[in-house]
Amino acid sequence: MILNNVNFDTYFRNYPDENGYFGKYGGTYISEELKAAMQEITEAYFTICQSRKFIAELRRIRKEFQGRPTPISHLERLSNKLGRVQLYVKREDLNHTGAHKLNHCMGEVLLAKYMGKKKVIAETGAGQHGVAMATAAAYFGMECDIYMGTEDIKKQAPNVARMKILGANVVEVTHGQATLKEAVDAAFAAYAREYKDCIYCIGSVVGPHPFPMMVRDFQSVVGEEAREQFVEMTGHLPDAIVACVGGGSNAAGFFSGFLNDPVDIYGIEPLGRGTALGDHAASLQYGTEGVMHGFNSVMLKDENGEPAPVYSVASGLDYPSSGPEHAFLRDIGRVKYDVINDDETIDAFYALSRMEGIIPAIESAHAVAYGIKLAERMGKGSVLINLSGRGDKDMDYIIERYGIR
Ligand SMILES: *Cc1c(COP(=O)(O)O)cnc(C)c1O
Repeated sequence: MILNNVNFDTYFRNYPDENGYFGKYGGTYISEELKAAMQEITEAYFTICQSRKFIAELRRIRKEFQGRPTPISHLERLSNKLGRVQLYVKREDLNHTGAHKLNHCMGEVLLAKYMGKKKVIAETGAGQHGVAMATAAAYFGMECDIYMGTEDIKKQAPNVARMKILGANVVEVTHGQATLKEAVDAAFAAYAREYKDCIYCIGSVVGPHPFPMMVRDFQSVVGEEAREQFVEMTGHLPDAIVACVGGGSNAAGFFSGFLNDPVDIYGIEPLGRGTALGDHAASLQYGTEGVMHGFNSVMLKDENGEPAPVYSVASGLDYPSSGPEHAFLRDIGRVKYDVINDDETIDAFYALSRMEGIIPAIESAHAVAYGIKLAERMGKGSVLINLSGRGDKDMDYIIERYGIR
């Protein structure tokens, strides 16, 4: 398929280019010292990811430790209630630790091991990336420092406990607003000091090159499995696929399996409480081009051009930018990006729980909500939704804020 001069037969060879650009988005906007460190990771990745030993080890880990392949489930009762469109979900909630994040964390830490590093460092906001990193580090016997703001540490006690039980050091970040942005700054600063012995593992398809590419590649297992499983199950491709977009890692991996197919692709951002700046985190919808955290992409900006405060009922979608590849796929028209608000999300959260016996992560419930809307709009056909994670982590919050319906 060729669209706006982009040939999807050879897409993965050409995007990103050797400097880490997807069109004008991506790149490496960091200090010279860190650039050298990123260059080392890029070179190691290109060498190691071709090695038969690395590929075999990653494959074995996915099967024996993570429990892959995760299945696809047909949402029969929900589909019948909505009409004729058949809805399906790819069950990343059944991946070990309950979400897709472990797919790239295991890849990143395995890479660190092959590079001879002793330690991995990462930032975390809600704690999901921290828990996945701590899990991977424990598996490989690596030291692990997780940078986390004081405010988030207070709010996310169960995830902080998990990280500690798994043996990670949780490093408290006290400056500024003491949330995710400061944690990222602190992790970058620590990396600049320690890069000879460790690698900084970014939690999504964001950050400087090679992370948007590498995290997508590690997540592409989701798209590959999903395409094969769906065709085997139904005898055809889905008419549409849907995933939620925070930084964009679950979406990037899932979409990668279908970019060259006649399939409509939808990436869903959180509209939160509404369209006013500060009430949502829909950067592809309302943001403008800008550089933050080492890469050029779309960004929600305040009046000074700095990253604006963002909000979503789903803490995992609460980020003022999105991966550069998503900005590119939007511009060329290959993927449509749309929004779902908090209320629609909670309705979908309960619909999937009550009608299918699957409690989704609130992040994933955004994608489910859009799948339901699509089913009503399409009238016939099939929709495959990426269920990026399970909702166990969200129980206390849902009960406190919305009660039992
Ligand atoms: C972190 C998280 C997300 C958002 O991250 P992406 O990089 O956009 O995929 C989505 N769903 C779940 C369950 C998460 O934990």
